[in-house]
Amino acid sequence: MTHPLDLPTDHPFGLHHLPLGAVSETPDGTPRLAVRVGDHALDLASVTAGTPWADALTGPTLNAFLDLGPQAWAGLRAHLQDALGDADRREELTAYLTPLTELTEHLPIEVADYVDFYASEHHASNVGAIFRPDGEPLTPNWKHLPIGYHGRSSTVVVSGTDVVRPTGQRKAPQDAEPTFGPSIKLDIEAELAFVVGGATALGSRLTVDEAADHLFGVALFNDWSARDLQAWEYVPLGPFLGKSFASSIAAWITPMAALAAARVPLPAQDPQPLPYLLGEQLFGLDLSLEVRLRDTVVSRPPYRTMYWSPTQMLAHLSVNGAVVRSGDVFASGTVSGAELGERGSLLELSWNGTEPLRLDDDRTRTFLEDGDTVTITATAPGPDGSVIGLAEVTGTIAPAR
Ligand code: CA
Repeated sequence: MTHPLDLPTDHPFGLHHLPLGAVSETPDGTPRLAVRVGDHALDLASVTAGTPWADALTGPTLNAFLDLGPQAWAGLRAHLQDALGDADRREELTAYLTPLTELTEHLPIEVADYVDFYASEHHASNVGAIFRPDGEPLTPNWKHLPIGYHGRSSTVVVSGTDVVRPTGQRKAPQDAEPTFGPSIKLDIEAELAFVVGGATALGSRLTVDEAADHLFGVALFNDWSARDLQAWEYVPLGPFLGKSFASSIAAWITPMAALAAARVPLPAQDPQPLPYLLGEQLFGLDLSLEVRLRDTVVSRPPYRTMYWSPTQMLAHLSVNGAVVRSGDVFASGTVSGAELGERGSLLELSWNGTEPLRLDDDRTRTFLEDGDTVTITATAPGPDGSVIGLAEVTGTIAPAR
């Protein structure tokens, strides 16, 4: 049997990745912080004993460590890579490893504020064409600012949590009056979440370049959406109960530092955004997502096609003086590419239910049914030809209560 630290160089969770999470031995145990190495969790408190960051890594969340800022983040990463690469420490570190199959994974951050953007031009155009067929697909503001809304942080849940079908009001155009009941258009949105560290003062704002120093890492994200509830409630104010019942985030946060080789130029931004949305730190990420519904791959959304840089999103979020703090999470918005097979929501894949999908088990789907499981995974180029595999985000639909 090979040693758990003898990872092939192409392992998606090799020493070039090192995502952080929180685990416990039993489902109701107190979470402790860990770094994922291959298919094991390495206890962070043990491996960092005596370091300057040890106090911030006692758990149960990463928030105190996120507060320490980018120098500490880089310091921990270098410390872990040194320790894991040191043959003389192998026996010691082996004692700190636990197979993931023996652990429960927890939400590794206390989510402070949660914002969801709308940064895919293809997604925004598709949704515009579906909901406003007589108008322009993009709203007039779309290429001038990263559109977003403030969501509900307390219902951001860790991957694997069941999603209870939401209940609420809806009114289809042909209905005379609104009705009440479980959503009949329950959908997914395949997204990438960014985890923020460090605080800003009320009334101040971040430049695009300063925003880069507040990006700790990324995690796959599913912004579950009840399209029937959403369509009735969102005019004129925007998303509310059609979104806030659950948003799932992967259990392991991939540091931005692991994605250096995945940075790509943004698509051309025309018209040029206003100066506060410009800077040196403008980039996209070459992440290839895969969406599976009941074990059928229904979409492969390419994150590299996203219009806005995460630094532009964070600069815009704070431009009015709103506070940024450790544990903030902002998501990209649905990732959709130009092709049919690259759309990140069932709304787009089934064109609002008019073109059902056929799954490998011969079932058809327009929107989600009870018992359906949706899993989103992604890969990205790592250093020296290696591959980074982002931790999955998965969830199963439970019946309405
Ligand atoms: Ca969304």
